[in-house]
Amino acid sequence: MARPATPFISIVIPAYNESANILPFYHALSDFLNKQSWQHEIIYVNDGSQDDTADLITSLKAKSPTIKLINFSRNFGKEAATTAGIRTAKGDAVIMMDADGQHPIELISTLVEQWLDGAEVVVGVRKSNQREGAVKRYGSRLFYKILNSLTDGNTRAGSTDYRLIDRKVANQFNELSEHNRITRGLIDWLGFNRAYVEFSANARAAGKASYSFRMLVKLALHAFVSQSTLPLLFTGALGLFVMTASALLGVFMVIDKYLLGDPLSLGISGTAILAVFLSFLVGIVLGCQGLLALYIESIHNETQNRPLYVISEDD
Ligand code: UDP
Ligand code: MG
Repeated sequence: MARPATPFISIVIPAYNESANILPFYHALSDFLNKQSWQHEIIYVNDGSQDDTADLITSLKAKSPTIKLINFSRNFGKEAATTAGIRTAKGDAVIMMDADGQHPIELISTLVEQWLDGAEVVVGVRKSNQREGAVKRYGSRLFYKILNSLTDGNTRAGSTDYRLIDRKVANQFNELSEHNRITRGLIDWLGFNRAYVEFSANARAAGKASYSFRMLVKLALHAFVSQSTLPLLFTGALGLFVMTASALLGVFMVIDKYLLGDPLSLGISGTAILAVFLSFLVGIVLGCQGLLALYIESIHNETQNRPLYVISEDD
C-alpha cells in the first residue's frame, strides 16, 4: 500500500465541558506532534459545552493555524461530534481521541506506524482498566459478548473509539447517512484491513465522565439495535416455540382424556385444557409479532441506507 512520503494526519477531538483538560492536553499533544516528521491538523468539535471549552480552543486557534474548531449549537453527543470531525478532516489518515487525557498521546506513533505498514483501520484496544468500577468493567465485557453473538463477531473486546482510519475508510464513513449511529460500530461494519494496538487507559485528567450509567445502557441498546435485528426475530422464535409446545401438549391431553379415557390416570381437568389452549393462542400472537418483525427488519435495513457493499480498492 503506497503511503504519502510526508503523511498528513488529522486528529479529531470531541469535547464536552472539558475546560480543565483543554490546555494541558493540547500542550502535551502539540509537543508530541511537533516532534514528528508528518504534518497534522487538530480538529476540535465542541459539543455544546456550557463551560469555557469553546473560548479556550478559540484562544489556542488564534496562535496555531493547525487547529480547527467546530462549534455545535447544543450538545448532540459524542457520536455526532466524532462524525462532524471526520467529515471535516482532510488528512491521509484520521485519528479520533478523547479530550480528557484517557487516550495516551504516545500511542499515536504506534497507530501511525501500523497505518504506514498497510493497515487501513488501527483500533486502540484497552487493557482492562482497574480504576473503573466493577459494574462498568463487567458490563462492558458482557456488552461485547452479546454484541459479538448478535453480529458477525468482528468487534474485539475492549475496542475503543481511539483509532486511526485511512482516508479511504473516512470517505466511506462519510457516505453513511444513518442517524442513530455508533461511530466504532460503523467503522467495524465497513471492514478494511485492520490492526489492533493495546493500551492502558489513563485516568480522566479532570472533570467527570459525562456518560452516566443510564446513558451507557442506552448506548449499548442502540448498538445492538443498529447492528443487528436478531432481538426482533427472537419474539417470533419464542412464539413458534410456545405454539408448538402448547399444541403438542393440548393434543396429548385431549387424546388422553377423551379418546383413551385417561389410561394413565392423569385426571386432566377442563381448566388445564383451557389453559393450554390459551397459551397456544399466546403463541400465535407472539408468532405474528415475529412475522411483523420480519417486515420491520426489512424496513430497518432500507432506512439505514447503508451501501450494499464497500470496495476496498479502486483502480
Ligand atoms: N463527549 C462529547 N459529547 C458528549 C459526551 C462526551 O463530545 O455528550 C466527549 C468528551 O468531552 C470526551 C469524550 O467524548 O472527549 C469521551 O467522553 P467521556 O470521558 O465522558 O466518556 P468515557 O471516557 O467514559 O468514554
Ligand atoms: Mg473519558
